This record gives sequence, C-alpha cells and structure tokens, in this order.
Amino acid sequence: MSIRHSGIGMTSQRTRMRMVERLREQGITDERVLTVMNTIPRHLFVEEALASRAYDDVALPINFGQTISNPWTVARMTELLRANSNLGKVLEIGTGCGYQTAVLAQLAQEVYSIERIGPLLTRTRIRLRELRVSNAYLRHADGLLGFPEAAPFDGIMMTAVTTQVPESLLEQLMIGGRIVYPKGSRKQNLCVIEHTSQGFIETILDEVKFVPILSGVISK
Ligand code: SAH
Repeated sequence: MSIRHSGIGMTSQRTRMRMVERLREQGITDERVLTVMNTIPRHLFVEEALASRAYDDVALPINFGQTISNPWTVARMTELLRANSNLGKVLEIGTGCGYQTAVLAQLAQEVYSIERIGPLLTRTRIRLRELRVSNAYLRHADGLLGFPEAAPFDGIMMTAVTTQVPESLLEQLMIGGRIVYPKGSRKQNLCVIEHTSQGFIETILDEVKFVPILSGVISK
C-alpha cells in the first residue's frame, strides 16, 4: 500500500496530526478517539486521486454515489457511541469505505458492519484485510434488519440518514447501550438513543449531512 500512495506517504503522519489538532479545536474531547484517528491512514480509504484531500474536513466520494464522512463527523459519532466507556460488541450500518469501521475496531472488542452495495463491500474487505483489521465482521445485507445472530450490541452506529430507527435495531440493543445515528431528511441532526431499564431516551445534537439509508441490496 505504501507503493500505491507513495507520493503522500511522507507527509501523512504530519497531516494526520494536524487533523487531530483541528478536531480538538472543533470540540472533540475523547482522547482515545483522537489517538486512534491519529494512527489510521485515512488516505488509504479514498481513491488515489483524492488522497491528498483525505485529511481535510470534508466528505469525499467513495464511488457508487456514496461518501466517506468528514473527520469531525466520524470523531463526534465515535465519541458519542463510546461515552467514555469501553465498547464490547458494536454494530455499524453502512460500512462504505470502512474508515469508521476501522476506527471502531480499535475501540471495541468486535465490530459487525453491514453494507448493502456488494462491490463497495468487496473493496472494503480487501482494504481492511490489508490494514490487518481482524475484529471487524462485514456482511453484505440490508442493515435495517440488523445482525440478530451477533446481538445484543452495546453500541449501534448508523452512517446513513433516516427519519426513524427500525424496531429490529432497537431490539438488538442491550440495556445500557446506545444508538448513534443521523436523524432527519433534508435537515439532519446527530441523535443518540439510550436504552435504559425505563425505556429509550432520545437526544438530538449537532447538525450533519449524510446520504440516505436505502432498503434492499445491490449485488453488482
Ligand atoms: N461509514 C461510511 C459511510 C459511508 S456512506 C464511511 O465512512 O465510508 C453510508 C453507507 O451506508 C453507504 O455505503 C451506503 O451504501 C450504506 N447504506 C445505506 N443504506 C443501507 C442499508 N439499508 N444497509 C446497509 N448499508 C446501507
């Protein structure tokens, strides 16, 4: 991989440190999240032509009409999911290029991630294998159904926007666990749902921009 992106290999650690400094200035406080994002080579998750912009605070295209979330969004969602405690099993809906998956894999014991676009997932599988991410289990399926065999989860992250979290996902969240997702349609906000013994509590937070959740799968 160092061959593929040899041109920017020399500067990427410095560029990553600048990205982390910026995240701090933008209000990210979870040091573990910042440490992990300081180590993961984000430029390897985008096409080579876009690699030089990988650390900018922008979302970038990853083919099939999808996008890799900007660094702040990844950091913020991860810090909200972690809530300063160690994560056991996490479910991600919308694997995309796998960057968020790789971040979660450093902070949780196991990550289960579902992607509906087959060819996108095939590339991501190769990428995560090359990066030796060994505790992420990827599945080509409709994420709205969740991953019942691996449930319950102590965290669920959706990386595509929806107006409502499906019942199947709420059922797969253990008590004490939380779901972080972008809620809305044209206007979108990050939203945290906590599963307490008294029921589900929803909190609406920062404004964001995501591609929509779609049902069904694409095989090729
Ligand atoms: N975390 C990803 C975000 C990718 S964009 C990254 O950083 O790259 C959102 C992804 O969600 C897209 O890849 C899209 O195909 C996927 N997606 C949308 N609806 C889905 C569904 N119902 N099940 C699984 N994946 C879905």
